[in-house]
Amino acid sequence: MPELDVVSQQQSHPLSAPAETAIGKPLSVTAVRKTYGAMTAVDEVSMDIAAGEFVTFLGSSGSGKTTTLMMIAGFVEPDSGSIVVGGRDVTRLAPQKRGLGFVFQQYLLFPHMTVGENIAFPLQLRGVPKAEIRRRVGETLEMAGLSGFARRRPRELSGGQQQRVALCRALVYRPPVILMDEPLGALDKKLRDQLQTEIKRIQRELGLTVIYVTHDQEEALVLSDRIAVMRDGRIDQFDTPQELFERPKTPFVADFLGAANFLSGVVEDTGDATAVRLDTGGLLRARTQQLPRGTRVRAAVQPGRLGLCPATDGFCAGIVETVTYVGTLVRVTLRPEGSAGPDVVRLEIPAGRAPLIGDRVGLTADPDDVTVFEAGTAG
Ligand code: ADP
Ligand code: MG
Repeated sequence: MPELDVVSQQQSHPLSAPAETAIGKPLSVTAVRKTYGAMTAVDEVSMDIAAGEFVTFLGSSGSGKTTTLMMIAGFVEPDSGSIVVGGRDVTRLAPQKRGLGFVFQQYLLFPHMTVGENIAFPLQLRGVPKAEIRRRVGETLEMAGLSGFARRRPRELSGGQQQRVALCRALVYRPPVILMDEPLGALDKKLRDQLQTEIKRIQRELGLTVIYVTHDQEEALVLSDRIAVMRDGRIDQFDTPQELFERPKTPFVADFLGAANFLSGVVEDTGDATAVRLDTGGLLRARTQQLPRGTRVRAAVQPGRLGLCPATDGFCAGIVETVTYVGTLVRVTLRPEGSAGPDVVRLEIPAGRAPLIGDRVGLTADPDDVTVFEAGTAG
């Protein structure tokens, strides 16, 4: 039987889709672990995902994203831990009995079938009556902007269109949870942007729960309600994009998401703000974390949160090395003065305030935008 149950009594979660339209189900992963010989691919990963939520596993290659997704899907058996979908423990269930949909990087369409037949296939497997199949295939094609393509074969379609068909095939039986592993990885940037928008729209319209895997920070930020930043088989932080930016819990998260600048120093004063005496000499204030005086720290500031000021006024002075226009913004790199600082500080500021190469300038930052980590914190 197709999964068509409409969840009307969803738990209310601020991030979930409106209950009256949502078909998504909540999902819990508890302490799942997977080892291959001496290698720990996934190390006690736990997370609760709300119905209708769009969650992304973000991490570099080898961080355990696919293995975690495959354990949820049922293609990889965890050594320990459990997976619950919509209140049902599915840890030991076969993939096809979990009621989940998948979209992978490879489209895996049947080449000898038409687009319509490809999309109809999951419904036929489930014994849905013919008239109903025709209606649902038409509806799904229309939703994906593919009306009129039903009779074509996959090879007569572009890569982007093929990936859309793969998406339709996953959506057509309305699974409450859809798993996607780098589904846009093979497409060029423009198509990727376009399909990201469509995936997001469809997910919202249907109130689906989506778990999405990518190594692309921007893609994760565009799509996700929450992002699990993965490293070495663990989740460093599972939070909204805004929280990850504004309150990164590890230097790794600050760097991976925001390409943060790191400045080393020592806590000189505490109180309303933490004052850090930088190795380059200046004083940088941070509102984020209370650490005892004398603690060696690294202060992280995102490029977009730094400003320019006269050289004598900032927490650090330096010479502008490059100025690159990116639309209405400019990316500026600065070589800080003093031998103890980073080689380069990166800023992103409005184009109207662009300095000239060779200018001697100062840096400012709002204490709320500075995150302080104890030196030696992993990452
Ligand atoms: P990601 O999707 O983040 O790139 P994976 O989950 O594919 O990472 O892999 C995590 C780690 O587990 C990697 O070091 C990978 O080499 C290892 N791994 C994954 N699958 C297997 C397997 N079937 N056999 C041995 N090692 C594996
Ligand atoms: Mg992978």
